[in-house]
Amino acid sequence: MSADAATVVEVLPFDGGGRVYSYAVPEALRGKILPGQLVRVPLGRASRLGVVWPTVSEGAGRFQEISRIRPIQQLCRETPVLSADLPRLATWIARYYAASLNSVLETVLPVVVRQGVRVAVEKKLGVLRRLDAVELEALRRRAPRQAALYDFLARQTGAVDRSGTLRQLSVGAAACAALVERGIVGENTGQLYRDAYDDELGGGELAAATPPVLNSAQQGALDAVLGALSARRFHSHLLHGVTGSGKTEVYLGAIRSVVAQGGSAIFLVPEVALTPQTVGRLRQRLADSGTRVVVWHSHLSAGERFDAWMAMARGEARVVAGARSAVFAPVKDLRLVVVDEEHEPSYKQGETPLYHARDVAVYRASLNGAVALLGSATPSLESMSNVRSGKYGTSSLPARVDDRGMPPMRILDMRRELLHMRGPQRVLARPLVDALRLRLERREQSILFLNRRGFARMMICPDCGHVAGCAHCSLALTHHRSNQTLRCHACGHTAPVPSSCPVCHSPKFNGRGAGTQKLEAALLCVLPQARVVRLDADTMGRKNLFREVLSDFRKGKTDILLGTQMLAKGLDFPNVTLVGIVDADLSLHVPDFRAAERTFQLLVQVSGRAGRGDRAGEVFVQTFTPGAAPVQFAKRADFEGFLGDELERRREHGYPPARHLIRHLFRGRNGDKVAFGANGWVQFLEANMPPGLVEIRGPAACAVERLQDNYRWNVWYFTERVMNAVSLLCELRTRFTFPPDVSDVLDVDAVDVG
Ligand code: ADP
Ligand code: ZN
Ligand code: ZN
Repeated sequence: MSADAATVVEVLPFDGGGRVYSYAVPEALRGKILPGQLVRVPLGRASRLGVVWPTVSEGAGRFQEISRIRPIQQLCRETPVLSADLPRLATWIARYYAASLNSVLETVLPVVVRQGVRVAVEKKLGVLRRLDAVELEALRRRAPRQAALYDFLARQTGAVDRSGTLRQLSVGAAACAALVERGIVGENTGQLYRDAYDDELGGGELAAATPPVLNSAQQGALDAVLGALSARRFHSHLLHGVTGSGKTEVYLGAIRSVVAQGGSAIFLVPEVALTPQTVGRLRQRLADSGTRVVVWHSHLSAGERFDAWMAMARGEARVVAGARSAVFAPVKDLRLVVVDEEHEPSYKQGETPLYHARDVAVYRASLNGAVALLGSATPSLESMSNVRSGKYGTSSLPARVDDRGMPPMRILDMRRELLHMRGPQRVLARPLVDALRLRLERREQSILFLNRRGFARMMICPDCGHVAGCAHCSLALTHHRSNQTLRCHACGHTAPVPSSCPVCHSPKFNGRGAGTQKLEAALLCVLPQARVVRLDADTMGRKNLFREVLSDFRKGKTDILLGTQMLAKGLDFPNVTLVGIVDADLSLHVPDFRAAERTFQLLVQVSGRAGRGDRAGEVFVQTFTPGAAPVQFAKRADFEGFLGDELERRREHGYPPARHLIRHLFRGRNGDKVAFGANGWVQFLEANMPPGLVEIRGPAACAVERLQDNYRWNVWYFTERVMNAVSLLCELRTRFTFPPDVSDVLDVDAVDVG
C-alpha cells in the first residue's frame, strides 16, 4: 500500500526500546487517529500496544524506509489516554533525567490504562444498615458466619473488596448474599468505591464549606496568582507562608478561579496520607461548581485508577489531588499546578526515572502557559534561589491567621540535662516531662517527635566495642523490643537478639540510642496516667490506622501522640499546645550537604504543629549541639538569616543551588570490581570530557558502602549546564564498558546522596 505524509503517524510502542516508529493509517481509521491514543501495531514479528506520538520535526531520525511502513492494526480507544502535552513532557523527562522513554512512559501511564483493556472492577462491600444490639445478638446465634462478616464490615471506614474480604474471613458467598438480600450489606461495582473516599473524610476533619474572609496577606498572594493566571502565560510563583498562615486558602482560591474559567488544576501533596484531607477540602470548596475532584496516588485499586484516569482524559474531572505521580494527570487545558510543601524530599522519585515532581510540575506548566504555584513554610534553597534570580515570582504570608503567635522554642542542652537524668529510660529531659505533665493537667494535647523507630538504635558491647550489624548492609541493626528482634531499616533483614556479645561473650551487650518504642516505654514510666499513641512505620500495618489514630487524637481520646517524620507534615490539631523534638541531632550529623537545611526545615515544620488553635503553643528541642546554626536560626524563626548563611556556604563549596549536582552511582556484588569500574570510568571521562562543562569529584565509596549485598561507589558531577552535561555523559556512557557485574545509574539533581 502507498503511504503518503497525511496517512502516516508516529507511534511509540511499549517495550519497543523507547523508540518512535512510523505506521500507516488504514482506510477505516483515516481522520480518527489523534496523538495520545492507544493503538495496536506490529513490531518485528510481534504485535504491541503503544501510543500515537505527536509528529516530530523533519530530520529527526526515523527508523524505516517509507516502503517498509506497516499499518496500525487496531485503535484500542477513541479517547486519547495522554493529554496533548504529556508526550513532550515525557520526552523532556527522558532527556533531563537520563532515562529511557519507555521507563518514563511506564511511570506516566498507569499499567491498567496501558494494557488497553477495561479491567473487571472488583466488587465492593459496605454496611448499608446498622444492626442494633438485639438484632446483632440474634444474628450471632442464628448465622455466625453472617455475623462475622457484618462485624468486620461495620468496623471499616469505607467499602472493602468483596472477594478478598470473604476469603480472609472464610465466609461463603451464600452468607454474604443473605446479608445483601436483607439490605444490611451493600454490594456494588461502581459508585460504592468512588464514594469510599468520602466516608474516610468523616470525623470533623474538614474546613468550613464557606471560605473564610482572606486576610490582606492572603488576598495579596491570591491576587498575584490570579493576575498570572489571567495573563495565560507561564509563571512560577513561590508562596512562602509560615506554618498556620493559611496557604491552603490561597491554593483553593486559585483553583476555584481556574475551574470557573473552564480550566484544569493539579494539586500535589508530598504524602499519600495527606490526600484525603486535601481532597475533602477541595470537594467542599468546589461543591457549588459541580466540578469533579479525583484523587490520584499509588494506593488506588486498578479499577479506581482506570476510572479516575479516563475521567480526567475525557475532561470530566478537572481537578486532581494526589502525591508525586499526580503531576502526570492527563487533564485537559491545564492552567495551574499547586505543589504544597515544595521543599519535601519525597517529591523526588526513588527509582528510574529519578524525576523530581516539583521540577516536572514547573516544566509542565511551561508547556501549557500555566501557573506553577509552589508553597512552603520552609522553601527549598533551590526555589529561594530561583526567586532571587527573578525566575519565580513570590508572595509571603509572614504571620499566622487570627494573630495567633508562633510558638516559642526552648532548646534543651542534653549534655547538661543528662547529668540529672536517672534510670533506664534516659530519653526525656526533666523540663520536657514537666511540660508534658502540665498539658495533662490542663487537658491539652502534645506531640512528641523522634525520627527513629524501634527501641534502641544499635546493640553495642561496652567491653569490646562490637556493634550488631546487618549481614547484608554496612549498617547497625536496630533493636525492636515488641517482638525481640534486631532489624535492618534499610533492607528489612532480621536477627534474634543475642543474650551476650557474640565476640567476647560479655553479658553487658546492650542497646544504645533511643527509638520511638523506647520513648513510648519512657512515657508510660514517667507519666503512667497519660493516654499515649505511637505512630510509625511499625504500627502502620493496618490500612486505616493512620486516619483512625489521627481522628481519635482530634477527638481528644489521646493525650500524647508520638511518632516519626509522618507527624511533621501538614497536620492541623487546634488543641496541641506542646511539641517536643526528642533528638534534633539525628538529621544534623549525617553525610549530606543538605543536613543543615533538612534540620532547619524539620524543626520549623514540627514546631508548626503547636499552638494552631486559640491557646498558645510551646516547643522543646532536645539536642547535644545547641549551638548548631540550624538550631539557632529555627529558635529565632529566622528564615532569611538561615537562608543567607546556608546559601553562602553552598556557594563557597559549589553545591546546589549554586550548580546542579548529578550523582553517578555504581553498584555490584564485588566491592573491588565496583571500585575498579568507577575509577576506570573517571579516567575515561577526564580524557574525553571537554574542559569546563562539569567538575568531577570522586569516585568514593558511598556513606552506606554496602546495601542489600551490593557495594556502592559514587562519582559526582557539578555543572551549570545540566542538559548538556547529561546528554554528553549518556553519550560517553555508551562508549565505555564496565566489568560485567557492575551496574550504574545517573541521578540528576540528586536528593538522596547516601
Ligand atoms: P498552612 O497551610 O499555611 O499551615 P492552613 O491553610 O492549614 O495553614 O490554615 C491554618 C488554619 O487557619 C486552618 O484551620 C484554616 O482553616 C484557617 N484559616 C485560613 N485562612 C483563614 C482566614 N483568613 N481566617 C480565618 N481562618 C483561616
Ligand atoms: Zn564484646
Ligand atoms: Zn540490611
